[in-house]
Amino acid sequence: MERYSVLKDKNPREIVLLRGSGCKWKRCTFCDYHLDYCLDEEENYNLNAQVLSKVTGIYNKLEVINSGSFCDLDNKTMDLIIKTCEEKNISTVHFECHYIHHREVPTLKEKFKEHSINVRIKTGVETFDVDYRENVMKKGFGKSTPEKIRTYADEVCLLFGLTGQTENSMKNDIETGLKYFDRVCVNIMNDNTTNVKPDNSVIKVFAEKIAPNYIDNDRVDILMENTDFGVGGESEEQTND
Ligand code: SF4
Repeated sequence: MERYSVLKDKNPREIVLLRGSGCKWKRCTFCDYHLDYCLDEEENYNLNAQVLSKVTGIYNKLEVINSGSFCDLDNKTMDLIIKTCEEKNISTVHFECHYIHHREVPTLKEKFKEHSINVRIKTGVETFDVDYRENVMKKGFGKSTPEKIRTYADEVCLLFGLTGQTENSMKNDIETGLKYFDRVCVNIMNDNTTNVKPDNSVIKVFAEKIAPNYIDNDRVDILMENTDFGVGGESEEQTND
């Protein structure tokens, strides 16, 4: 599995897919990407150290994803991320965080700030339609509003291509994301090992009617395939936390 890549177009940055102890939520109906975990911290650290050794600092920005939330990474890996940033002049790090860990974000930001590193948090809200998000996707955000989510997250991931989503719902999700958050990352559902399957008619609507309006927007990433960022693959659904 590829775990390091360089994103050159929008918001240029390096991206690493690290491995932690696993998502503590694990209930999102569409996701099998939490399967990339290991309970042996030393093994995780060794793998993560190998991946982080590839980081060059070319764009002074690093995105860290780990099939869960930042708090699933071991302490040695977190220290190595800081050391890597210091050595490679990286001033901004993006981490993933599920809603259940939102109270842990201030401490993370504080810790990195001590090293003059700015932390940005990305959260996989998937949609702002609460009923769909909680009853169909089982995301575990409760009734959280965009305002509430914004209190801990700077960026959101959205997941499109599921039965029941429409042109209006997808447009509304992107517009809400852009209104409240710095950046929006749209992931299109790809086939994986869960029972949730991509809905090709919804994906067609997205590709023809929605994507063209945002393709040149620097604040919107669009991943038609879950490996479009150059990391992941195999059986994982690459989205967000
Ligand atoms: S989408 Fe994220 S929060 Fe949901 S189960 Fe997968 S890894 Fe966990």
